[in-house]
Amino acid sequence: MPPERPSPVRPGLLFIGGQWVHAASGATFRTINPATEEVLTEVAEGRAEDIDRAVAAARKAFTEGAWPKMAPADRGRLLWAIADRLESRLQEIATLETLDSGKTITEASRVDLPLAADCFRYFAGWATKNEGETIGVRAPGFAYTLREPLGVIGQIIPWNFPILLAAWKIAPALAAGNTIVLKPAEQTPLTALALAEIAQEAGLPPGVLNVVPGFGPGAGAALVDHPGVDKIAFTGSTAVGQEIMRRASGTLKRLTLELGGKSPNIVLADADLDAAVRGASNGIFFNKGEVCTAGSRLFLQAGLHDAFLDRLQAHVRKLAQGDPLDPKTRLGPQVSEAQMNRVLSYVETGRREGARLVAGGGKPDGRGFFVQPTIFDAVTAPMTIAREEIFGPVLSVIPFTDVEEAIAAANDTPYGLAAAVWTRDVKTAHRVARRLQAGTVWINTYGLYDSAVPFGGFKMSGFGRELGRHGLLEYTQTKSVWVDLS
Ligand code: NAP
Ligand code: MG
Repeated sequence: MPPERPSPVRPGLLFIGGQWVHAASGATFRTINPATEEVLTEVAEGRAEDIDRAVAAARKAFTEGAWPKMAPADRGRLLWAIADRLESRLQEIATLETLDSGKTITEASRVDLPLAADCFRYFAGWATKNEGETIGVRAPGFAYTLREPLGVIGQIIPWNFPILLAAWKIAPALAAGNTIVLKPAEQTPLTALALAEIAQEAGLPPGVLNVVPGFGPGAGAALVDHPGVDKIAFTGSTAVGQEIMRRASGTLKRLTLELGGKSPNIVLADADLDAAVRGASNGIFFNKGEVCTAGSRLFLQAGLHDAFLDRLQAHVRKLAQGDPLDPKTRLGPQVSEAQMNRVLSYVETGRREGARLVAGGGKPDGRGFFVQPTIFDAVTAPMTIAREEIFGPVLSVIPFTDVEEAIAAANDTPYGLAAAVWTRDVKTAHRVARRLQAGTVWINTYGLYDSAVPFGGFKMSGFGRELGRHGLLEYTQTKSVWVDLS
């Protein structure tokens, strides 16, 4: 079959070994615009046989191809070229992301795409800085270490930040000299295919990056089980992370897992009220709450509780919900009907268990998988909405009096992805930051990210780190080389 060049909005093809190919089975699936409920396009559905082909292409590129042997500076230039091309097609790809995921065009074009490009540039710099050590030893001679690539990396990502999470995974793996098979989420496969096209145009050798859309139990599980894959880097739910960990034991694959969260956002009575209100709102309503670090548990200290809630409600009333392609829109639809229903059922549970609904709580009229921005007050620790990840625009407000009580309650969760504390007292801020069991703690802000700052979970939010030097090292293994000088 001759290679075809797809438009990213009408793909129907997989990207394997530098070629655009049909799925072996010929199967396709639909991806839907959650704002209109219309089918956007048919996407090729990769299954085990396609994963086999993609892993073989990635293996060939790793063992026979130029990539791992290429001068690090040249690998860096290629990553930089990918960033340039992403930026030059920013509006087009941001629009594709908005159509496929329902996130607002403002977020896609001002946050996701710029951060994705930045991630490629950041790791372009690391390609030349993946240095080992020289070590003095007892024997006459010395030893040195090499930070070698792992080989073929299987990467599985969710639908909430499709191109950004693809960049977080692809850029460091490439900088370290690995080759990749990426499976995007079934709900949002389009921008990963656009990224494959960009990488190809930038001159990435065939087989270094392969993109195989498909379903978790088919393509995803085949990647996890495949003996030709050296590592799985996964972002998604804790339940699927556990399943991947079980399955990966068969081939003793390296794993990094970025999983769910139920992040506490603690506002102390001396906080800057306006800043904390904005932070609390962004913390839960950014990307319609489909954020693994969403500040879904808002702990409010007694002295400011009422004033805070008033201002938060006023702030939320101003958040425009609607067409995510409209630059004025602040809240788009949930990614899918299933996700919308899941969120609405949590709202029902919150009501039933006695939390006080003070904003939203329903689905606005009309088409699209929208859920109103929702706030529950008087939430207590045993309630379901205080314990389970909702992954939607639903905030649980938990009043407290004493800071020790808030820290204990904040840590009373199996998750440990992120947390925040708001206070004007410098000592209290740092003391609380040390006590919170989370991979990221924000002080007087919420939801900041930078390609240079490591990100990842404590406890059941997973292990391993993305971004920063730590993110690079997760895609390398250490070789110790001994030299005899006797
Ligand atoms: P999910 O079901 O865990 O899916 C994530 C990815 O795993 C998808 O590509 C999915 O394919 C694939 N998958 C599903 N079952 C699999 C299996 N048995 N073997 C291999 N791959 C499999 O997560 P989701 O519900 O789509 O996404 C929301 C969840 O992701 C939330 O719980 C959220 O906390 C978490 N998340 C975490 C982070 C983080 O950085 N920690 C970031 C974003 C999201 P399909 O698309 O076919 O399901
Ligand atoms: Mg899923």
